[in-house]
Amino acid sequence: MEANRRYAAAFADPGMDARPVLQVAVVACMDARLDLHKALGLQLGDCHTIRNAGGVVTDDVIRSLTISQRALGTRSVVLIHHTGCGMESITEDFRHDLEMEVGQRPAWAVESFRDVDQDVRQSMQRVRTSPFLLHTNDVRGFVFDVRTGLLREVDPA
Ligand SMILES: [Zn+2]
Repeated sequence: MEANRRYAAAFADPGMDARPVLQVAVVACMDARLDLHKALGLQLGDCHTIRNAGGVVTDDVIRSLTISQRALGTRSVVLIHHTGCGMESITEDFRHDLEMEVGQRPAWAVESFRDVDQDVRQSMQRVRTSPFLLHTNDVRGFVFDVRTGLLREVDPA
């Protein structure tokens, strides 16, 4: 709350539209080491950011991308996974163990992965084949290196 009061004190209404200026939606892992706006040189209002564990393209991400494209004018999708992702160190057993512990099976898949490049390709494929999206041609996938801060583009093939 204290930090927000300082933020609001210096805040001026930018008067901008809700439509992202760069017409891009970024889907990224929620990892705390990835400062998406700084890493990509993004400013307030530039893009939609959709984050979850792994940066995986789930049904809910498709839901947000669909609204992003159909209601708010974005035309391209950027996917960002990263080195050292926690989703590489857990397996689908996580779901089974969870069920054993709490007595209820989660409706969602864990979406863990072993190969980060392959998971980026899988995510790109889910975007490209979604029937709900208007724009599926401009989809690019990257791996962010948490040690160097550099992005590496993943070949879609
Ligand atoms: Zn991650």
